[in-house]
Amino acid sequence: MIQLSHKTAGFTDSVIRRMTRICNQYGAVNLSQGFPDFDPPLEIQKRLEQVALTGPHQYAVTWGALNTRCALADKIKADTALNVDPESELVITCGGTEAMMCAVLATLNPKDKVAIFSPFYENYGADVILAGATPIFVELHSPDFTFDKKELEQAFKDGAKALILNNPSNPSGKVFTKEELMTIAQIVIKYDAFVITDEVYEHIVYDESEHIYFATLPDMRARTVMCNSLSKTYSITGWRLGYVMAPSKVIDRVRKVHDFLTVGAAAPLQEAIVSGLTMPRSYYEDIRKLYEGKRSLFLKGLDDLGFKYFRPQGAYYVLVDISEFNYEDDLEFCTDLARLVKVGAVPGSSFFADGTRNYIRFHFAKKDETLRAALLNLSTLREKISRR
Ligand code: GLN
Repeated sequence: MIQLSHKTAGFTDSVIRRMTRICNQYGAVNLSQGFPDFDPPLEIQKRLEQVALTGPHQYAVTWGALNTRCALADKIKADTALNVDPESELVITCGGTEAMMCAVLATLNPKDKVAIFSPFYENYGADVILAGATPIFVELHSPDFTFDKKELEQAFKDGAKALILNNPSNPSGKVFTKEELMTIAQIVIKYDAFVITDEVYEHIVYDESEHIYFATLPDMRARTVMCNSLSKTYSITGWRLGYVMAPSKVIDRVRKVHDFLTVGAAAPLQEAIVSGLTMPRSYYEDIRKLYEGKRSLFLKGLDDLGFKYFRPQGAYYVLVDISEFNYEDDLEFCTDLARLVKVGAVPGSSFFADGTRNYIRFHFAKKDETLRAALLNLSTLREKISRR
């Protein structure tokens, strides 16, 4: 008999990605797994077309092609005012997913404890378990998903050596304020800990919210392992391009994990995305505005239909309250929603460590017409679900 690993015994497949398969099965408008149904900027597509003919087609340098790392370091400098050495402080990975896995495997030991805010993006749980470590969940309290300083500090008293900080946050849409981030920084110093950030929605913030990079806070550069992705910023989720930025000592380890895990991100795509990394700064304001428009359209639709939700301050997700439908199982609700109403969502229980089951998550990274089609289908929700 083949003995299987204890670590993976408790895993399910990713419910986020499973919902995409369920949507495809029922022909539902897919507002579950967060990815756009519109194209990346034309310049990027054209550059990809050229690269198909000119190459590169063989391996890039394992930690990322030098020209891509240089362009990335310049972009990071423009975003954060931080000087990043592309030679020693950056690794280009296969998406933000691999960036997080490398960060976790490079820094954690079996039996280490890691604080994770809940609700949280489901991969973090799996990342930490694969590293042999244990999560300590710290609640983000609705409606504004803030944390209680004492509860966060307790996680460190209980032995957490790091915090995973997703800002702007998936699924809550929370954008951490400067004050909150400074509180985290204080605790991190007090307990000699560090922070693994996931900032993939860095350019998608709304209203007065501002994205503050954790590494830019006083003394935090040395204590931050920033994971990021180019997927959301350039609408290229299928390209699988992400990166880790950290002090060189950490990056030295991240490089080694990445080398053995994937060897490297796709060379032609690294070359083509230089055309995105060097776009004028106005691009980032345009993408922010694009999503602001989509948020307005979708939330107005939810308002018109009388749904209760938490207004996102960033990212492109919205948690909607489904208490009125009296389902015990939110996965069953989402399956019925895809099957009967033809709209895909992710059950909230995928994100809440405490088993909360009365929310579902929609994303609105879709063409306006797709969002309108989803809203039209949702207008039949109460009738179809009550008749089921
Ligand atoms: N971040 C996206 C979501 O939460 C999906 C990411 C993925 O599937 N790799 O839906």
